[in-house]
Amino acid sequence: MLPRIAVMGRPNVGKSTLFNRLAGRRIALVDDTPGVTRDRKETVARIAGRDVLLIDTAGLEEAAPDTIPGRMRASSEAALRAADLVLFVVDVRAGLTPSDRSFAQWLRRHGKPVLLLANKAEGRQGAANALEAYELGLGAPLLVSAEHGDGMGELHDEIRELL
Ligand code: GDP
Ligand code: MG
Repeated sequence: MLPRIAVMGRPNVGKSTLFNRLAGRRIALVDDTPGVTRDRKETVARIAGRDVLLIDTAGLEEAAPDTIPGRMRASSEAALRAADLVLFVVDVRAGLTPSDRSFAQWLRRHGKPVLLLANKAEGRQGAANALEAYELGLGAPLLVSAEHGDGMGELHDEIRELL
């Protein structure tokens, strides 16, 4: 079986952009509307010289009265259970939100290997903004820009170490 890597995080942090970049093709739906990627998308991707199953997940939403977030949460939990490695994405431009923090806590409880990605870290402010991500208790964040491709070499290296 291929190692499974799940890309997770709240809506709009850049999960699908990262998924597309790692996949090398445009598969996932990218949109400015938070939470627009409602279904899991999977593809085989070549990462650090080996084939992996890459899974783009819907953003994990906090419990909400309507049923769509509930389904998104169920989908995220299934993705997490099946994953060998989680790429947990936060948005350093928006800064940490309560949703990021509770998501991080939820991930820590499950004990799966997690790589913390500080996305949207391009430009001069990127590194400074990313410092906040240490607060999540998931180790040192890896600074990336899914949109611009920054940090992808390091990301491949870290994935190789963890798989
Ligand atoms: P998702 O909801 O987590 O899947 O997020 P998307 O991949 O759909 O991206 C949400 C928005 O963030 C889109 O407008 C993307 O173009 C933008 N975005 C994604 N990655 C980056 C990045 O590295 N830098 C910047 N500045 N914007 C990004
Ligand atoms: Mg998406």
